[in-house]
This record gives sequence, structure tokens and C-alpha cells, in this order.
Amino acid sequence: MAGRRIAYPKIPFLAQVENISLSCADKSFIMINKVSVIGAGTMGNGIAHVFAQHGFPVNLVDVSKPQLDKAIATITRNLERQLTKAAITEELKVKTLENITVWTSFAGLKDADLVIEAATENTELKLSIFKQMDEAAPEGCILATNTSSISITRIAAATKRPEKVIGMHFMNPVPVMKLVEIINGYATAKEVTDTIVALSQRLTKVPCVVNDYPGFIANRILMPMINEAIYSLYEGVAGVAEIDTVMKLGMAHPMGPLQLADFIGLDVCHSILKVLHDGFGNPKYAPCPLLVNMVMAGKLGIKSGEGFYSYQGTKGLVVSKRFDLDLGD
Ligand code: NAD
Repeated sequence: MAGRRIAYPKIPFLAQVENISLSCADKSFIMINKVSVIGAGTMGNGIAHVFAQHGFPVNLVDVSKPQLDKAIATITRNLERQLTKAAITEELKVKTLENITVWTSFAGLKDADLVIEAATENTELKLSIFKQMDEAAPEGCILATNTSSISITRIAAATKRPEKVIGMHFMNPVPVMKLVEIINGYATAKEVTDTIVALSQRLTKVPCVVNDYPGFIANRILMPMINEAIYSLYEGVAGVAEIDTVMKLGMAHPMGPLQLADFIGLDVCHSILKVLHDGFGNPKYAPCPLLVNMVMAGKLGIKSGEGFYSYQGTKGLVVSKRFDLDLGD
């Protein structure tokens, strides 16, 4: 059977056009002129960067002013790196920074056509943020979340506009990674999905639309692989370097699963596995006891300085002393 060709419509779009709806064949789109991003951490600063670079005025909102200052410093550094590689011009760098305004309150949502929430991955926090977003954002505004694992349908139910709520799951680092996993909640309107697909293309990303089940696609497949790699270490099948080397050289993965777990954060991996385990009720998703222990011990990967590898000022990849066993003898 011939494979299905993935083709998305190219439409005249969207920034700096009048505030009207566009239509294209059987699709209609909601006009997106202004964007607000909630959460100025790793993902929020990347999302703000990408929208601003593509001409959208962005209000970046965080409860923490130091976090906003850090986000602007990170975006500036990343733009300078792009400039050095001749990926952007000095003029675009300046314009991108001018497009971003920082806010410490939800007043930064008042003119938004689209709000993307990228705050800390915590269900109660996100439900509370979405209630506030619903009150602060204009009636027609789309409310998106960058959650890695929390149900879009559950988040949408915290608002009075579940048809306008959608998952817009960017990958880290946002300016570099091409994929946007777009997640339809139970009530998401087709017009909203079509708009977010076209908007992702406008950002030169590749959108993939999936439905709202635990882990969506990216983490439903990635996290069991990482968990299995940790089980293989836990059961003494192979060492850290061996497991990662097999997957890098044998499967052409750019990074081994244990290194990737350190990069993502072991606490994040643990909480996503719990979402899969609770959501499907299948023991195959149970987090490996070694992962649970490492999280309890505060060994979270790069952000804590140690996980499967050690990041204590050393250059190159150094296996953590805890796992530095020679199985070859
Ligand atoms: P982070 O911890 O780096 O940043 C979270 C930010 O949210 C912080 O700046 C914090 O001050 C802010 N925040 C907390 N409560 C807030 C509130 N009430 N209002 C406004 N801001 C608030 O987290 P992150 O890694 O950027 O992750 C953000 C989201 O993106 C999570 O849902 C996560 O699952 C998802 N995600 C993360 C990655 C990744 O690799 N880090 C990849 C894809 C998706």
C-alpha cells in the first residue's frame, strides 16, 4: 500500500494582518496577531524567542522577575549564537528582542489571540493557571499548553472554553527542534487545530496532530524506552556507557537513552512514567526502582550536577562514580 503523503496547506498567514478570520478550502483559521507565553523557564524562553523571531509581538509572563531577566539573557545569548552562524541578521536579532515584553502578572494576556502556557509541570498548578488564563484572556483567544504529559481534556475542563484549548508541545531546545506535537483535547474545535497547525508551519516547524491519551505520542514511546534502559542498568545487563553506545551506534540515536534522561531531568521522566502508569493501569509503565531511588536522592541529571553521568565541571561525558563498573572482566 502506498504511504500517506503528509501535506499541510500553505496559507497566507498570520502576523501583522488585519484581525479577520481566513479560510482555505475546507479549513478556517483564527487570526493570530499577538501571543502571550506563561512561564519563562527552559521552554517558555524558547517559545517566546521563536514567535518573536517570526514577527509576533510576545508578552512573556512569569511569577518570578529574576526568571524573566534570566530568560531575556538566554534569548539574547541564543540570538547571538544564531548571528555568529549567519542564521539571522543583526537587524533581526534587534527586532526579535524588541518584540518581547516581560510581565509579572496576567495583565500580560489582555490583548492576546493565543496564550501558550509553559509553566512548571504540575497538574494542580496548571489547572489553576488555566482558570486565571480563562478570566484574563479575551473571549476568542486560543489557550494552548506545552505540557509533556498532563491531559489536555482535563486542563480544558478547568476553563469555560474547552473548544479553544489545545496542546502545543514544543521540543527542547525550541529554536532548534523542528517538531511541534499538537494534541487535540476531547472538545478541541477543528478551526483551533487548523490554526495551530498553520501557525506552527509559519514558525518553520513541522506539526504532527495526535489525540489526547496519556503521554500523547512523543512520551508514550520515549519514556518506556528510557525506563527499559534504566531497568537494563538496574539488572546489571550492561553499564551506562554500553547501553548508550548500543543505542547511539546501533540505532543511530543522536544521544543514548540514559544521557537523554539526564538531559530531560530524572524527576520529569519519573513523573511522566507515573502519568502513563496511572492513565493506562498497565504495570509495563511502572518506573524502575533505580529511577525512583535516584529521584529521591536528588540525583536528577544535568540540573542537579549528577545522574547517570557526572556534570561536576568536567568536560566530555563522564559516567557517574556510582555506575562506573567494569563488566568486561
Ligand atoms: P522550568 O522549570 O524551566 O520553567 C517553569 C517556569 O514556570 C518557571 O520560570 C516558573 O517561575 C514559572 N511558573 C511557575 N508557576 C507559575 C505561574 N503560576 N505563573 C507564571 N509562571 C509560573 O520548566 P520547563 O522545563 O520550561 O517546562 C515547562 C513546561 O514545558 C512543562 O509543562 C514541561 O512538562 C514542558 N516541557 C518541558 C520540556 C523540557 O525538556 N524541559 C520539553 C517539552 C515540554
